[in-house]
Amino acid sequence: MPFIPYSCQNISEEDIESVCSVLRSHFITQGPAVTAFERVFCDRHKVDHAVAVSSATAGLHIACLALGATSNSRVWTSPISFVASANCALYCGANVDFVDIDPRTRNMSVHALSEKLRSAKAAGKLPQIVIPVDFAGLPSDLREIRALSDVYGFSILQDASHATGASYLGEPVGSQFADATVFSFHAVKIVTTAEGGIVTTRDPRLAAELRALRTHGVVREFTELERKTEGAWYYEQQSLGFNYRMTDIQAALGHSQLRRLDEMQRRRRASADRYDKLLSQLPLILPARLPDRESAWHLYAIEIDEARTDKKRRDVFQHLRNEEIGANVHYIPIHTHPYYRRMGFGPGDFPNSERYYARALSIPLFPAMTSEQQDFVATSLSQSLA
Ligand SMILES: *Cc1c(COP(=O)(O)O)cnc(C)c1O
Repeated sequence: MPFIPYSCQNISEEDIESVCSVLRSHFITQGPAVTAFERVFCDRHKVDHAVAVSSATAGLHIACLALGATSNSRVWTSPISFVASANCALYCGANVDFVDIDPRTRNMSVHALSEKLRSAKAAGKLPQIVIPVDFAGLPSDLREIRALSDVYGFSILQDASHATGASYLGEPVGSQFADATVFSFHAVKIVTTAEGGIVTTRDPRLAAELRALRTHGVVREFTELERKTEGAWYYEQQSLGFNYRMTDIQAALGHSQLRRLDEMQRRRRASADRYDKLLSQLPLILPARLPDRESAWHLYAIEIDEARTDKKRRDVFQHLRNEEIGANVHYIPIHTHPYYRRMGFGPGDFPNSERYYARALSIPLFPAMTSEQQDFVATSLSQSLA
């Protein structure tokens, strides 16, 4: 069987046609496609504002800035994430710290957050921003985190890079509880613009700041100008922003992909359900199912259950790779990377995250995956654990 990747893009002929039509039009960037994409993303996610950017990393960066991160700020996130969830705070000069995961959901533990906030308050070191990460597409406990933010006064920046199309308490992720939510459209994510991201928010002022920050801090809206008498050509820079714009070529691809989001989600969910059945007898810990939320199933992440097998993750991983199965590991805990160790973090700091990492394995899951491919993955896993 040919190589099975852990994830891959799903591009239709309509997607290709959408991109080509932009290439034949007047605007390949800063044209109407980005606005149209933002509008459909808002509709699908039941939120008023969405600001498309060049990547989720860029979105996390400007969202931190718009939420007031400075060199005096503290920002907390989950160790089980891609490094961008923490780096965004460092870009602002802020101080980064982590909150350990809940071993069941693999998302930030509300209990650990609550404890850490209590001692931070006593020490006068409360965070300005907390960044929960919807790991593998499973929404974080945002209702409880919002309750804590009401007590302790931090902003919530939700990293929903894995969670496009997921729902929580019956509503789409990105529509409630968080001050801002960031989604990624990198090629391996749920929908793609090759590279790209978007920030959603219910706050019009925050949305305006994000729009300015994505394009050099430059403002053109007449009502927003500080000097209104110059003329129709006039724009002014009011803050220090960046060029974090999405192109119209990317937006057209994203827009076309969003039309198939529900269909792609159905396929991911069906594959996840099927894995649950195929793997139920193996010494594995399977992803949690929670009745009040629906994962976007970006990843199907399992753990080798040490209590039931002597087999090691390293050997299972290698066995799958030898069979041309693109197993992967998500994630190396951020605080254990050399760069973060040099900041004083290290092994032992967040034990649940480290224990998860030691046993974790992501197996292939993508919309076009066939039953034959899934059966092959299950059989190989079973052999490697025998
Ligand atoms: C992919 C990812 C990012 C970064 O997304 P880009 O669009 O590649 O910048 C950030 N956080 C998480 C959790 C991710 O998986």
